[in-house]
Amino acid sequence: MSLAQHRERIAAARESLGALGTVLWQAGSGGCAGDHSEDQRADGGGGLAGLLGEVDALGGACDAARVAVTAEALDRGETSSGPLALSPVQWVRRHAPTTRAGGAGQVVALAHAFAKPVNEAVKEAVDAGRLPVRSAAAVVVEADKLRPLLADGADAPVVAGLVDMAAEHGPRGCRLLRSALLARYGRDGVLQDEQDAGKTFVSLSQPHDSPGGISEYRLSLDAEGRAVLEAALGPLSAPRPVEGERDLRSSDRRRGDALVQLVRRAVAADGTVGKNSSTTLFLTMDWESLRDAVGAATTLGSVDSGSHLAAETVRRLACDASVIPVVLGSHGEVLDLGRNVRLFTPAQTRRLWLRDGGCTFPGCDAPPSWTDGHHLVHWADFGSSDLTNAALLCERHHTIAHQRRLAGRVVLSPEGERVVWDLARGSYDELLALRAAQERA
Ligand SMILES: [Zn+2]
Ligand SMILES: [Zn+2]
Repeated sequence: MSLAQHRERIAAARESLGALGTVLWQAGSGGCAGDHSEDQRADGGGGLAGLLGEVDALGGACDAARVAVTAEALDRGETSSGPLALSPVQWVRRHAPTTRAGGAGQVVALAHAFAKPVNEAVKEAVDAGRLPVRSAAAVVVEADKLRPLLADGADAPVVAGLVDMAAEHGPRGCRLLRSALLARYGRDGVLQDEQDAGKTFVSLSQPHDSPGGISEYRLSLDAEGRAVLEAALGPLSAPRPVEGERDLRSSDRRRGDALVQLVRRAVAADGTVGKNSSTTLFLTMDWESLRDAVGAATTLGSVDSGSHLAAETVRRLACDASVIPVVLGSHGEVLDLGRNVRLFTPAQTRRLWLRDGGCTFPGCDAPPSWTDGHHLVHWADFGSSDLTNAALLCERHHTIAHQRRLAGRVVLSPEGERVVWDLARGSYDELLALRAAQERA
């Protein structure tokens, strides 16, 4: 078919759409597949629902064609030629008037992107009508961001994953996939670095006064903070019917109430060892990943289910009681529910509180109730849950001890046993190597 013939058909399609409103009364009532009544055959089948799908597919094809035409014009340098010397975006706005309401920039960006071989798979999905233009733009942006972080050869599966996700769930879909893709296809340590960097953005604003005695806060959390908070809020923010009456609080209201309740409980629990098992965060991770501190764990059993946490973060969380790692074998079988031997018992914890008196990190005076029991030889490296392998660390120093891989030892001093830390980065790895050598001897 020649271009002139194509243009004739485009004109015919437009004319048809313009007159569509006058014949809509002929449409049947839709109905299920296989249920072909008389009037459905008369209207071409599918009723109004089918018609809407067809019109929508045409609209999608128009969006894609707009990009294709623009790409050709860019390629020829036509946008900047002529007396007006327009920018590409101005050129699109001028000749595609509907984009004056927005979207011209996206058309130009995609036209540029589709000229690059790396975006071939995205272009194909758009041309096949599988991916709307707006979602394609999101895929291109996300793929560009991910590309420098990926292991060799991971480009194709990552783009394919993004295309599928965006086709299914729209632009938001690809952003949701980011951590999963980094865990599976990222270079070593990339997800960990990104999640560690995310800690910088953790913040809770000062209260901002609103009318009616209401205070507004702005809270930003990293992946770990979110997983921990959601695991804690989950059970507390479920609807609570009173004497058979429905709980009419909104979801946001229940979450707000739950957060206050959580803080109240935490404050009330000050000075006791107890932890609330209903707020436990479950994580699944395969054994090799946990041992080698690669890959990522997946959260289970909260609103936040399915988000990914980097391996070193999990090794730290696995030190203490509020997280239960579900360790999986190579075939996905549960090797260890991480529950029994992993934790320090309440009796041990009480003795630990007495022995360490608070965070053991040099210069820190966090009280015992603010600390976690850290395994000096990490649980994931078969460290035992004995007091000789335990040290109290506050949240912040616990993070640092794992991130910098610091070794601590329990030594005898005139005042009794105490923990000393080797603050040289990687001292923990030296300790492990030493232990391995001793075991071989
Ligand atoms: Zn630890
Ligand atoms: Zn500390």
